[in-house]
Amino acid sequence: MNKILIFTLLSVILLPILSSADSFEVNEIDQFENWANEHGISIVGVNKNSYDLYYTGYDESTDSVNWKEIPGVLIAANSLYTVPENVLQVMYGKTIYFSTEYGRSYTVLDSFPDHDILVGLNRGIILEQNINSHTVIHELGHIVDYHGIQGIYNDEQNIFDNFLDDRNLIFNGMDEYSSDSVVSSGYVSSYSAVNDAENFAENFAHYVIYSNEFLEKIDTDPLLIEEYEFMRDVIFSGFEF
Ligand SMILES: [Zn+2]
Repeated sequence: MNKILIFTLLSVILLPILSSADSFEVNEIDQFENWANEHGISIVGVNKNSYDLYYTGYDESTDSVNWKEIPGVLIAANSLYTVPENVLQVMYGKTIYFSTEYGRSYTVLDSFPDHDILVGLNRGIILEQNINSHTVIHELGHIVDYHGIQGIYNDEQNIFDNFLDDRNLIFNGMDEYSSDSVVSSGYVSSYSAVNDAENFAENFAHYVIYSNEFLEKIDTDPLLIEEYEFMRDVIFSGFEF
């Protein structure tokens, strides 16, 4: 009698504990799905890398996989949760493609069926393996820049369009700085020196992810003050991480 009673009691106590580990991640995935819906963002899983999507397009019947099972989805979710609502507006109506394949990730500014480029894809971000917060926020930075500020391809989320001139002055044409493997003055990273778009995306990523490091860099490199202030005052409405 006692054995049965003890077994019953243990089951009641232990079952919720044992099952919670599994359901925890499922709940987080559901939470991310709800978050995406609330922000007008679609989520799609793909079995192609961005190079193949660029040249052969996206066909749901053959290229789609369950995004909830792709590694790194929650890394992307937790990175995006840190971004304030006003900035996330640039992603409204866009898609996050989670790829099972490895690569450097890619921003889809538009689809160009007339040129057989990115056919069947929606504007947004392709996140390839291994997904990390820097890549996620860097690609979001491109959307903020191209669609939010520059309004490229007549994007409706052109919410920072008043600041195009400032953006061009601050992130463009720094020909006085040399670009080499060493980080030059005026740049947050060596990749920043590739062009103005990468410079913007890298500054955006550094502002969100490495805010303390960015502030320390300003102390030794005053050429970065304008970039930091543009992120803080224009894009993030004064919000600092
Ligand atoms: Zn980039």
